[in-house]
Amino acid sequence: MNWNYMQPVTIRFGNGRIKGLAEEVKALGGNRGILITSPSFVKRGLAAKVQKESEGLICVIYGGVSPNPDIKECEACISMINDHECDFVVALGGGSVLDCAKAAAVMCQEERPVKAYMEDASLLPDTSLPLIAVPTTAGTGSEITCVSVLSDHEAGVKKPLSCDAFYPTLAIVDPELTYSVPPHTTACTGMDVLCHALEAYWSKHHFPIGDALAVHALKLVFDYLQLACEQPEHALAREKMAEASVIAGLAFTIPKTTSAHACSYPLTNLLGIAHGEACGLTIDHFLRINGAEDDGRLLELAKMLGFKDVEAFADGIDSLKRTIGVRTDLKDLQLDKEQKEALVQGSKHPNLLNNPVEITETMLRDLYRKLW
Ligand code: NAD
Repeated sequence: MNWNYMQPVTIRFGNGRIKGLAEEVKALGGNRGILITSPSFVKRGLAAKVQKESEGLICVIYGGVSPNPDIKECEACISMINDHECDFVVALGGGSVLDCAKAAAVMCQEERPVKAYMEDASLLPDTSLPLIAVPTTAGTGSEITCVSVLSDHEAGVKKPLSCDAFYPTLAIVDPELTYSVPPHTTACTGMDVLCHALEAYWSKHHFPIGDALAVHALKLVFDYLQLACEQPEHALAREKMAEASVIAGLAFTIPKTTSAHACSYPLTNLLGIAHGEACGLTIDHFLRINGAEDDGRLLELAKMLGFKDVEAFADGIDSLKRTIGVRTDLKDLQLDKEQKEALVQGSKHPNLLNNPVEITETMLRDLYRKLW
């Protein structure tokens, strides 16, 4: 088996690490920065606090990033970067903010509209403004990946773009910033971590470093996610989930995500289900499908996590979902024929091709039939 590994993002992990922001910016040679964040952080004052931590090096704030960021928000960031001649970017928020900022820091260097890159990612420049990613959820791992997921809501498209220039320069992972995440969002983002790790492990492109990282992240999710949901200020649970999120991000960057993520895009786009919850909806079902053609790797993983076999592992995920209160079906939505068809067709996303078992349309229909 041949494999390659490269991980260019410097990581600073630990409680209170955001206080070192000014030193980090100076080390990067930044003079005029933009802080990209979401409206809630502007409202609560965290954006102003982070701007203060920068000792005046952040000169402007864009506070308009919403969940599943739209290309228009990315365009607005690009305009602000160019209008203020910013020479570095700080992204403070969940995966949505990080993705929007990563794209803006790369795309601001050329005149093309964001839509052009959505249509043809090969047009993306291969450099970026220096970017410091500060995650405030424990979920996406976006602070260390080369992926940016953008949506064109007008066109009904949500799409992951990938290029090396999207790797942030630095990730400051400060678990204390996740204490304010509400229980349901903690549950959803935690399911995203679980999916990243499990999909990295079973991806057709899995490799030994990713496997080891995936096992570590999965153990942490089973040990700490429920606690983080029940006690939002539990320091150890928050720290371990933040660790799991970074480690799972490192695990999937190279093998990529697979079937559960493929289905998540239409589930979010068409039904508005939060990203992590959408991924988690199908993950145990795909575990059973992949387990049926297991070459022994999934059984080994199940045992490493303390389950007797793959079916018990899938039951364990189902039980975790019920405990933390994320969706296990779509029955309450009473989907009509058209919506059902759109879900099936929308799930035929390229990520499906990374799944170890070929997923046919019939299999997708069977799976969704159980859910709706
Ligand atoms: P999110 O960024 O959309 O945030 C969800 C909600 O939580 C928002 O309302 C946000 O304001 C709020 N929030 C964030 N941090 C908070 C805090 N500390 N306290 C209180 N509220 C807080 O959610 P997410 O799951 O982190 O990101 C999802 C997005 O990331 C999706 O678009 C998904 O497709 C994408 N994603 C990207 C990658 C990648 O590698 N780039 C990987 C997985 C997912």
